[in-house]
Amino acid sequence: MQVFGLLGNPVGHSLSPPMHEAGYDELGLDARYVTFEPDRDDLGSAIEGADSLGISGLNVTIPFKEEALDYVEPDDLAVRIGAVNTIDFSGDGDSLPTGHNTDAGGVRRSFAHHDVTLAGKDAVVVGAGGAARAVGFALADAGAEVHVANRTVERAEQLADDLSGATAGGLESLETRVSDADVLVNATSVGMEEDASPVPADALHADLAVLDAVYRPLETRLLREAGERGATTIDGAWMLLYQGVEAFERWTGRDAPVSAMNRALRARL
Ligand code: NAP
Repeated sequence: MQVFGLLGNPVGHSLSPPMHEAGYDELGLDARYVTFEPDRDDLGSAIEGADSLGISGLNVTIPFKEEALDYVEPDDLAVRIGAVNTIDFSGDGDSLPTGHNTDAGGVRRSFAHHDVTLAGKDAVVVGAGGAARAVGFALADAGAEVHVANRTVERAEQLADDLSGATAGGLESLETRVSDADVLVNATSVGMEEDASPVPADALHADLAVLDAVYRPLETRLLREAGERGATTIDGAWMLLYQGVEAFERWTGRDAPVSAMNRALRARL
């Protein structure tokens, strides 16, 4: 039996186990997906121990995504984003496991699933934290022109710098930027705890495709207001699904059964 899992703290409410195990069941793979909650200063020994135990792959979530870079051989995208969310132990055992970031692929495939192309489009990212970095690189690498808007402007400027060619501003820049944009992604936590949106509703329009990284609730205020104006709306479960799909495919070498994984995920949201 192959064992995959998730390293995070806390991981009690993770949707990854049912999502991945639905994929194993659908393909008849002899595999299980379990969660691990190491102490915050035990990440290195947890990754080493997983390798010794023959664990095949690990996802990594808060608060370990950035620190995990120190314990793996990261690929170029993970280095640029500054975070690892997927570790692959399939190497020869003499070298470090490889580290990847499938959040960016999750964003790209969420748009592709909804027939939204990104090349040459004007895109606005709200936020400059971990999720926003993955979103920013996904959009920029796909050829979009990116504007980053964040409450703390210095963080927006840093991310825009890293994306090279991107622009940055505070949340007040959203009014005009979103009015002119083709693509909008909320990568802040606004909308999770309360019925609030970081984007002025007046700026939303029918030619916009809007992805909200927040997936609890599935329909955030931003998506509701965007839908009311005729925009294409993509909820955060798509991003969660496709980051898992990309990890699944890397680990198993098989096409992921996306529909089965999606059903298992949405049954729990
Ligand atoms: P993070 O690193 O802590 O970043 C939080 C971001 O939200 C920062 O840009 C922060 O702005 C902004 N923010 C927080 N409260 C705000 C407020 N009241 N008004 C305006 N901006 C506010 O968090 P993260 O890991 O990037 O996660 C962000 C969201 O994405 C969370 O809801 C998370 O669940 C979601 N997410 C979803 C997926 C998925 O697969 N769907 C994956 C990853 C994350 P400042 O810089 O000014 O503090």
